[in-house]
Amino acid sequence: MNDIRGNAINDNLGKVAYRIYVDEHKCIGCGLCEAFCPVEVYEMWSVGEGKRRPVATHIERCWGCETCTGQCPQKALRIEGSADSNMLAGREKAEPLAAEKVAEYAGWAKTMRDVLGLRWHPVGIKLLAAGEPVPDVPIPNERLRYCQSLMAARRGRKLMMPANRHACPDGTSILGLTPMPAKLASGELYILFHKLDSVEAAQRMVSERPCLEPRSIDATVVFPLDDAPCDPSVIAVVALPEQIMWLCMAASYYTGHRFDFHASGYNAQCVETTLIPYVSRELNVSFGCYGCRASSDVGDDCMFMGIPVELMPQLIKGLEELSKKAIPQSRDKIYLPPLMN
Ligand code: SF4
Ligand code: SF4
Repeated sequence: MNDIRGNAINDNLGKVAYRIYVDEHKCIGCGLCEAFCPVEVYEMWSVGEGKRRPVATHIERCWGCETCTGQCPQKALRIEGSADSNMLAGREKAEPLAAEKVAEYAGWAKTMRDVLGLRWHPVGIKLLAAGEPVPDVPIPNERLRYCQSLMAARRGRKLMMPANRHACPDGTSILGLTPMPAKLASGELYILFHKLDSVEAAQRMVSERPCLEPRSIDATVVFPLDDAPCDPSVIAVVALPEQIMWLCMAASYYTGHRFDFHASGYNAQCVETTLIPYVSRELNVSFGCYGCRASSDVGDDCMFMGIPVELMPQLIKGLEELSKKAIPQSRDKIYLPPLMN
């Protein structure tokens, strides 16, 4: 086992200490780790007898994202360690949220659960702007992808993640915590994953999604709306298509507005559920994406909605109106012909 140690200052993540172990007996020198690493940690070196092995010549760039370990056909790689410094230490603390706001958000969550029978907590999302006072929310010990943190919050966890607690370079840079790695900005990695046909298609997909200014956001904060520690900017709901349908109708109950959703199958949680509502202040739906479905326990039958917080009061009133007749009648299948019983 070749132990390549890292203990260096990363411009984006602070002090990091990752170790990459390469099992010399399993490695076949295919170079997939080098190709897939989004931040170009590896070089392939000749080690004699026609053999090549990965060398982490730029270990200081490593995010611990595990893309290389996931792509290695031989399971020859192991990443250990973490970026364990608290990047928000010493920052001004935010005032606790007023009790009436906590109660208002909990009331919204209760209405959505009671009317729709949601299985999971609606999730409050805050993107902590650079220099903003820091709410009292725990920073996890483990590194998580942003989508994983949302899925954990729907189960009841509160999580504040500065850049060095994020495990996905794509979501982290899209959400403005770090600059975008060159391989992701060019779309090159999407071709390697066989998700798109050409560089042109990849670049179009990248250019049509919003992206926040690098380092404009200091941390992502997610929490169950039932117990909000701070004001959310966007509310995320993980639900069945029928439940999302009623949320759409509730949002347009007073206006009749038909929505133009922005959904693609790429960047479901960071872009489609969070950033599009955050930037446009319109609600959006998502069918999920490769990343969030491959890295979380979200059910195949679930989809997602992101709702700007200021739309919630009217949506909740609309949902209450729908609960009086339309929702129970539809769920009773009142038009089901006897033939189909
Ligand atoms: S992907 Fe795995 S097998 Fe291929 S070079 Fe890297 S460590 Fe070796
Ligand atoms: S863990 Fe991620 S950043 Fe680190 S070497 Fe592997 S692919 Fe690159």
